[in-house]
Amino acid sequence: MVSIPYDADHSKIPELQHRNFRNDDFWTEIPGWASISRGEFADHRWQTKNSIRKVDQVEKILGKRVSKDFIKDLKEGQHQTPMNIRITPYVFSLIDWDNPIEDPLRKQFLPTGSTFLPDHPMHLVDSLSEDDDSPVPMLTHRYPDKVLFLPTTICPVYCSYCTRSRIIGGSTETLEKETYGANQKKWDDVFEYLTRSPLVEDVVISGGDAYMLTPEQIKYIGENLLRIPHIRRIRLATKGIAVFPQKILTDDAWIKSVADLHKLGKAFGKQVMIHTHFSSPREITKWSQMAMERLFGLGITVRNQAVLQEGVNNHVDAMVKLTRQIGFINIQPYYVYLHDMVPGCEHLRTTLREGVELEKAVRGTTAGFNTPTFVCDLPGGGGKRHVASYEYYDEENGVSVWKAPYVKKEQTFLYFDPLHKLSPEAQKRWGNEGDRKAMIAEAKSRV
Ligand code: SF4
Repeated sequence: MVSIPYDADHSKIPELQHRNFRNDDFWTEIPGWASISRGEFADHRWQTKNSIRKVDQVEKILGKRVSKDFIKDLKEGQHQTPMNIRITPYVFSLIDWDNPIEDPLRKQFLPTGSTFLPDHPMHLVDSLSEDDDSPVPMLTHRYPDKVLFLPTTICPVYCSYCTRSRIIGGSTETLEKETYGANQKKWDDVFEYLTRSPLVEDVVISGGDAYMLTPEQIKYIGENLLRIPHIRRIRLATKGIAVFPQKILTDDAWIKSVADLHKLGKAFGKQVMIHTHFSSPREITKWSQMAMERLFGLGITVRNQAVLQEGVNNHVDAMVKLTRQIGFINIQPYYVYLHDMVPGCEHLRTTLREGVELEKAVRGTTAGFNTPTFVCDLPGGGGKRHVASYEYYDEENGVSVWKAPYVKKEQTFLYFDPLHKLSPEAQKRWGNEGDRKAMIAEAKSRV
């Protein structure tokens, strides 16, 4: 047990680093924003208006802070990525522009061409088979009592690792997609389906991102759902708190709509919660803490779902700090997902073994209720399973076999480690179709 003197400087004590929150005017280090005041930076409209959408803007705003080679690498990335660029000034300014290649935030939002790897042969555009389990447009119904509702497919930022890259954020050179915004008629079809689905108790409102819904749309969706008698819980999913906390602090109309919905839920004896998406402790600053103070003051519970990513958080120190820091600002660490097997993400994926070892290392560092569950969301639609609950794991060839008895009783599911993390011999086997089929058949036969 560490003994800390009463008057010690907490910022210098390693065990208390998770209580330190960056609160300097960090954005003024970006040449294009050197004169932006704290008041302007806090304004959600300024953040939206100045979000970066193109590599040319990156070049313009950074001037000589980055090399021409780096900009060229970013441009090359745009020919390979399934996700368009969209990044708020807040996150953009938190990137270490003296070493952008290694920066965990840059890796998540601004892909470089030199880091892409060929997709795994077993990758899928809709890795979780959400479209297969969709009874009406915009809705996935897989678990008996829970549904996933996607009322929009636009977000305040676009993440390179997005599991719904097939629909989110508009087409890119490598992926054609049908991105959609608000559509009340289609939402009404969802409410109608849910009204006649009495088993459903839980609705995740995701997308896309609830930040992109107007206050009126939040009210419309939320009230329609809360008025369905058997629906007991709704969860608004937004990465916003992690990447755009200024909206929580200065968009009073939006926050009021969420608070009103929360109040209505309470009056009905139902839960209205927020699920957010911090993946790196580098995303957490005093702004995040202030945003959470506002939400906590309104009595709104916030949970976090992180995605395990190479060079972002697949390290014990980063994962422990992320867990303890979000816990400190009253966000409950809920899940850490193994990266889904979607296109354009092979360089960001980790092995199942890394997930298992990280979960072992993180467990015990803080209270159990504040410790995330590490899960694999099974390709093919088996749902989320604890990382250590696989039936069989061929680590040499990176093949794991899973079951999801309650979700799809007869089916087995497969998850594959990224090829670049396997031995040269195993990589060679994956290059041969016959060997590939044999490896998969052998792994399945063990279950
Ligand atoms: S915020 Fe969520 S839905 Fe939007 S791009 Fe990121 S991961 Fe995808």
